[in-house]
Amino acid sequence: TIGRAFDRAVDQWPDNDALVSCHQSIRWSYAELGEQVDRYAAAFVALGLEPGDRIGIWAHNCAEWLITQYASAKAGLILVNINPAYRRAEVEYALNKVGCRALVVMPRHSSSDYIGILQSLAPELEACTPGALESSALPTLEMIVRLGEERTPGMLNFDELPERVAPEHVTRIAELAPLLQTDEPINIQFTSGTTGRPKGATLSHHNILNNGLFVGEGMGLTDSDRIAVPVPLYHCFGMVMGNLGALTHGAAVIYPAASFEPVATLEAVAAERCTALYGVPTMFIAEMGQPDFADYDLASLRTGIMAGSPCPQAVMQRVIDEMHMDQVTICYGMTETSPVSCQTAVDDEMQARVSTVGRVHPHLEIKIVDVEGRVVPRGEPGEYCTRGYSVMLGYWDDAERTAESIDAARWMHTGDLAVMDEAGYCQIVGRLKDMVIRGGENIYPREIEEYLYRHPAVADVQVVGVPDEKYGEALCAWVQLAADQTLDERELRAFCEGEIAHYKIPRYVRFVEGFPLTVTGKVQKYRMREQMIEELG
Ligand code: ATP
Ligand code: MG
Repeated sequence: TIGRAFDRAVDQWPDNDALVSCHQSIRWSYAELGEQVDRYAAAFVALGLEPGDRIGIWAHNCAEWLITQYASAKAGLILVNINPAYRRAEVEYALNKVGCRALVVMPRHSSSDYIGILQSLAPELEACTPGALESSALPTLEMIVRLGEERTPGMLNFDELPERVAPEHVTRIAELAPLLQTDEPINIQFTSGTTGRPKGATLSHHNILNNGLFVGEGMGLTDSDRIAVPVPLYHCFGMVMGNLGALTHGAAVIYPAASFEPVATLEAVAAERCTALYGVPTMFIAEMGQPDFADYDLASLRTGIMAGSPCPQAVMQRVIDEMHMDQVTICYGMTETSPVSCQTAVDDEMQARVSTVGRVHPHLEIKIVDVEGRVVPRGEPGEYCTRGYSVMLGYWDDAERTAESIDAARWMHTGDLAVMDEAGYCQIVGRLKDMVIRGGENIYPREIEEYLYRHPAVADVQVVGVPDEKYGEALCAWVQLAADQTLDERELRAFCEGEIAHYKIPRYVRFVEGFPLTVTGKVQKYRMREQMIEELG
């Protein structure tokens, strides 16, 4: 279980750094983190929370997030990651969907007032009476624990929770340890919402702990590694690949002062001598695009992970050459599979390392199938399916969608299109939902994006299909220009003519400042499509 893995890490590496939280000026060894976790595990018991209860956390990366992750695991609670970008309707949906009894919340962050949102959902809170929330819009919620120094009527304060701990609560945690089972649910993570409404993937200790372990092995992590985690803990990238990847190897996690902030990330890497850095491709592009990028000392970097969305070859090559990340790996996966199921190996040929997502992870199976479920020949695109320890228990309270994704033989159907070569290396060529069918021709936007990236004026590009009367669908490219560069539609088309098939040349080109993104930094193509449909009438 995660609790036992945590105790083992504390025993094995007591003096190693476990956590550096840059904006909080916190630096804790495993022994120090261990003390905090034990206090809070007992405090959760003192609050009356029982194994199997759901406890939500709605906060940006911070030390309390990490404490809550391990303390709730020790108390047998199911941690529910709530996206900090969620607003009223979304948080109401998420908390009620999984029936959270408790919620840990950060008070506010830049322009977001989280407490205000909760108060507007439950004005009864002010009354401060037990059961005040029962008649509110959040009927299963019994307690809200706020972070920070201030107090809010009707809410508990995180810092004060340990005051409630009595010896029997500590004893109870010790008694629970051998009773908790590794295949029990320990975490509900909502998917990114890249293709629509997020789904709550229910994951066990066994699912995510092993995935963290194997992801770390894929990078050759040791107890001297220091991982910069500018990706959100709300998502498996931060919570599993970051926190659990570090825990299983005695490494440290470093949370930059702000998530997704290129400058804060570069500062954290340089100041903390990080050896590994995580990010989605757009984040690496932003980091290398900083005007003073060359001034940061990144020589300590060795490895890291690029994942989450298609990783352009040129970007990978630059990360290797310009960020010292000789051993950077690409991972492919999804929330529902804990997440990683393919990863490049540091000793793969360079071409495979920059152009594929690697080969299947240890102890997992994968297959690429056609619409009838037959395995396609190597080299041909089909749906990527995976099976093994990493496949989620199911979507929380959604048997129907679970059955649509996991078949009777326990294969997870990912909805991603992939090609596997003779040696087993996979390329993700797109999502089933994003595939464009123009005049009967299957088009993978990814291929066109890769080609357009080669234009020196193009900093980032996304291609989507929009409805077209004549051809069914037509291609539309959204282009972000590199600094100080100019390019017009005609020039971009001229760049394509004679180089790629005529039907792959985008019919529409839009020059934009950015793309609609999920909080995990992923491009929401469905929103681009919606916007184009509106624009084109
Ligand atoms: P939703 O399921 O709610 O629409 P989502 O699928 O983006 O959102 P996640 O589980 O966070 O939610 O992301 C998994 C998806 O991200 C994969 O199914 C795949 O489409 C994409 N992805 C992850 N890693 C890679 C990669 N290395 N290359 C290409 N695509 C990737
Ligand atoms: Mg998905």
